Amino acid sequence: MRAGRHYQPLSYDLRLPASAQADALRLLEASRAVVNAALVQLWPLLDEFMAERAGPAWKHVVELIGSPDPHGERQWRCEAETAGRIMRGQAERKLIFQLVQPLLSDGFIRPETDARPAGKNRQTIKEAIERLQKQLSDDDTAFLTMQNVVEQACNYFLVHGEFPATYEQMQSVPLLGVGMLTYAGDDGGAKGQAYRFSVDRDAGAAALLFRFPDETGRWQWRKEPVELSLPDCVTARLKQGIHMAPTLREVVCADGSRVAVLDVIVQVKKSEPVEWESIERVLGFDWGVHGLITAVVLQSTPIDPEHPVQISRPLFVNTGGLDGHQARTRRQIDQLKAARDGLPQDDPKRTVYDQEIRRCWRLYEARNRELAHLAANLLLLFARVWGCSLISGESLKTLKTTGRGKGVRGRWRNYRNTTTIRSDIWKILRYKSHLAGIRFRSERPRGTSHTCPRCGKPAQTYRSPRAHHRADPVKWGRWLICAHCSFNGDRDYCAAVNIARLGVAFLLSMQTTGQGKAFSVTDASVKPCPYMAHGAVLLFPPQTDLSRLIASGKIYLNGWKRACTIRSSYATSLLLRLCS
Ligand SMILES: [Zn+2]
Repeated sequence: MRAGRHYQPLSYDLRLPASAQADALRLLEASRAVVNAALVQLWPLLDEFMAERAGPAWKHVVELIGSPDPHGERQWRCEAETAGRIMRGQAERKLIFQLVQPLLSDGFIRPETDARPAGKNRQTIKEAIERLQKQLSDDDTAFLTMQNVVEQACNYFLVHGEFPATYEQMQSVPLLGVGMLTYAGDDGGAKGQAYRFSVDRDAGAAALLFRFPDETGRWQWRKEPVELSLPDCVTARLKQGIHMAPTLREVVCADGSRVAVLDVIVQVKKSEPVEWESIERVLGFDWGVHGLITAVVLQSTPIDPEHPVQISRPLFVNTGGLDGHQARTRRQIDQLKAARDGLPQDDPKRTVYDQEIRRCWRLYEARNRELAHLAANLLLLFARVWGCSLISGESLKTLKTTGRGKGVRGRWRNYRNTTTIRSDIWKILRYKSHLAGIRFRSERPRGTSHTCPRCGKPAQTYRSPRAHHRADPVKWGRWLICAHCSFNGDRDYCAAVNIARLGVAFLLSMQTTGQGKAFSVTDASVKPCPYMAHGAVLLFPPQTDLSRLIASGKIYLNGWKRACTIRSSYATSLLLRLCS
């Protein structure tokens, strides 16, 4: 396996043809049972997975246990690999839990009052995490895991009235809910003893053979290979990259039906990032308080490096009707849970409710995932169209949320703004930037929402631009008004310009001294930015194949329905192009 920091894995899911579905689903059911039985045995040995260890996960697992239900040695290795990866992921979380555990305190929980039930005291949590973070690497992903572990501990507290003393106390054995089997434990596509996989790059086709149990439970090889036609984008990737062992996976559709898909995984070489000297344009984006993302493009002009110029109109990405859909799904889940919990423990109707609850969660999560992909793609497309080779994003560590949403819709917006979707967008953007050779930076957001982007002086925010609100500044206000130069504008937009200004300051520092330096928005080297509306010439779409951007990463290839749409302030043609 060739991997590492120069390579980027991409995964494409291909629906198996109808003739292979039943066999594949039976195989997935059988291997899920083995993986779950293995996880039950491995769970008390979680500490074994906490030490750094190179090499495949299956080796680690087979040293500790034998197969709970053997169906061939390589089949077991693949199941062990699947279980081992889950255990390694849990071990990482446990390590973080052990860091956090001494900090867990009652101060994290906001006590119940007449007006509100007990909940999490997010300010205290945020401060504790920030203290802890100083000891950790400067990595957004580690931070998110930490935040997520703390949330889990708080949820435990709200149910049990005390914090968990051990990780295992709050985390039950992590079992596979749907079938998943990676073939990475086998001997490769040509010599595999549980599967065979070959690709004909010129014909754009692949052939898969696999072992599976028949209706009577007898294991056997398929007689005929499963023919898969590969979409062009996959063939193109396979020509550039190295294909890895695929993963067979079960997808449960919204109507409860099950479909077997094959994740074809390709290691693709990352592009060399653009030289700092040749970068002129920077895309800055900010996690909006009102929309999902706001982005602008600044040009660092060679004529006057003191004054970067905004050349694009701002891009506002809103989730439109999705907020309402998601809110309704959450509410439906709550209602179903309440109805189920009202039934006696042995009532058979409980399973019907459980199924429906699971169906709602799946729908909810699928919408979130698609939203993250669409938003990340839109940002990359925006960067491409404007010829930006540096994307500066507001750090995920900001934890900025509005906190002012009303009703279910507001709660969903709140939730969305906090972690899940942002971290998904972040991950997608980061790997896609790597592939495209675009540089990607995380900027500290301190002060970016309360600084005038035009003159660089501190500014206050107000409820709205209307006169009767102008006397009364509020920290969360959506309108920024500068008392020095009387500029005023949307708060999210101003923050995006400020983030881009930080990116330009970093770029200039790289270009003049060869050294990067993280600036804060109050530094003198962070130049104010005029808006050059008349000179805003949109570059022609780049000659590179736009579908590359859209096709890279995890996508639904053969005919899955898109579950969501997003709106942007730009022409719909941009979106149509993106979604086609
Ligand atoms: Zn100003």
